[in-house]
Amino acid sequence: MSDEPSIFTRILRGEIPAEIIAETEGAFAIRDIAPQAPVHVLVIPKSQEYRNVVELAAGDPQLLAEIVGLANTLAAELTGGDFRLVFNTGADAGQTVFHVHAHLLGGGLTEKSVG
Ligand code: 5GP
Repeated sequence: MSDEPSIFTRILRGEIPAEIIAETEGAFAIRDIAPQAPVHVLVIPKSQEYRNVVELAAGDPQLLAEIVGLANTLAAELTGGDFRLVFNTGADAGQTVFHVHAHLLGGGLTEKSVG
C-alpha cells in the first residue's frame, strides 16, 4: 500500500469535504460524489491498509463483515432494504481508488443485470 493518503483517508481526516453519514469502529460511509443510482453510498474501512476486497477478505474478514453489516444498516434506512453491493477490483474493472470500498447502490434499481 502506498504511504500517500488516499482520497478516502483525506476525507476521513477532514482534509476534503464530505459528510460522513454513518460510521462504525472500523468503517465509515459517504455519498458518492458522482452517483450511479438514486442511492449510491461508499462504505469504506477507516484504514487504507487493503487495496481491494480480496486483500481485505484474506487479511481481516471481520472488517469485511463489518462493512457488509454497515451497508445493510444503511440500506434499511435509505433503500427500504434491497440493495446491490459492488467492489470494483482492479483498474480494468473500473477501480480508481485503491483503498478498498464497497459501492452500496439502491433505490429504483429494476434491471436484473450485474453490470
Ligand atoms: P472506484 O471507481 O474506485 O470503484 O470508486 C471510487 C468512487 O469514489 C467513484 O464512484 C467516485 O465517484 C468516488 N469519489 C471519488 N472522489 C470522491 C470524493 O472526493 N468524494 C466522494 N464523495 N466520492 C468520491
